[in-house]
Amino acid sequence: MVTACDVPIGVITGDNVKKLLAHAKDNGYAIPAFNCTSSSTANAVMEAASKFNSPVMIQASNGGAQFMAGKSIKDKNACAAGSVALAMHVRAVAPYYGVPVILHSDHCAKKLLPWFDGMIEADQAYFNQYGEPLFSSHMLDLSEEPDEENIAICVQYFKKLAPMKIWLEMEIGITGGEEDGVNNEDVDPEKLYTSPEQVYSVYEALSPIGDMFSIAAAFGNVHGVYKPGNVKLSPERLLGHQKYAKEKLSSADDKPIFLVMHGGSGSTDEEIKTAVSAGVVKMNVDTDTQWAYWDGLRVFEAENRDYLQGQIGNPKGPDAPNKKYYDPRVWIRKAEESMIARVGVSMEKLGSKDTFPTKKPADGAAPIFNFKPVSHNPLEQAKTMIGNLMKH
Ligand SMILES: [Zn+2]
Repeated sequence: MVTACDVPIGVITGDNVKKLLAHAKDNGYAIPAFNCTSSSTANAVMEAASKFNSPVMIQASNGGAQFMAGKSIKDKNACAAGSVALAMHVRAVAPYYGVPVILHSDHCAKKLLPWFDGMIEADQAYFNQYGEPLFSSHMLDLSEEPDEENIAICVQYFKKLAPMKIWLEMEIGITGGEEDGVNNEDVDPEKLYTSPEQVYSVYEALSPIGDMFSIAAAFGNVHGVYKPGNVKLSPERLLGHQKYAKEKLSSADDKPIFLVMHGGSGSTDEEIKTAVSAGVVKMNVDTDTQWAYWDGLRVFEAENRDYLQGQIGNPKGPDAPNKKYYDPRVWIRKAEESMIARVGVSMEKLGSKDTFPTKKPADGAAPIFNFKPVSHNPLEQAKTMIGNLMKH
């Protein structure tokens, strides 16, 4: 049994993120990252983390963030605003679940950089106020671009993130399939494996700026629905990347690089274990929890169909009310319960289950909000107040 990592509960940032991911790497487990598109799915993920005693990552994709803002909002800042909304929700309630939560943003391709810029703006504003960024971590996916450009853009952004101690996840090499508008369905299969040299070139470029970064290297993985037989998943190649880096760095560490795994839906337990033992500290989970959420609702509807055809009238009588079946809190809860169970399966597969015994705060002990700025200097506060008054 692993000794729990010494990090606080609720959303963690900075050194605590580094500490937790290093703990995962050293103890041979990975933290599952779930795509959330609503307060309901985010709560389901945190409830599961609490139930299965695991740290967890909640991530917003660009499309998920748009959904969070509302599908009808076409504003160019909608996705950034939606990500901020999800982050604020998670920050408000995470402490009640008694587990550490890493707040992350998912794949950001070159054309989506304005979304990334918006989130950094929010991080900076939050940082100025509270002394830590809004998000714990962000992901840049420039893998569609030539390696040189991919790495150069990552360097440029990492320089902005490092002073706030925000983790950067990047991707190099091609992951198959289709996700968030990037389509790699017809790519040459040989290109689906990132080389050790490519991985090391990222390490070389980013490490002079900071050590809080991780790399998604392709090893035959496919985003979204996995089509067996198309490519062979070779997680053992990840160990080759570590070996190469270890030699190059003359490092005592067998796994000097933080790796992450994408496109893992449909992988066997064995493949996941191999990846985790090679230094994968985080794995994305989306497709399987999407299905689980739907499946909970599907089962509920199938079992209670006769009670869901009108506001009044069911097998018990023409005047019997159906409110307790169609109330969204009833059927959305069924979706949540099913998702919670599936989140637990991922925690089991990745070995994060039972690594962090839940520390639920005593009743009333968790803060209701954190609207208090870090600086309590009365002189500064008076200046701000006067400044605000002068504006009116
Ligand atoms: Zn990816």
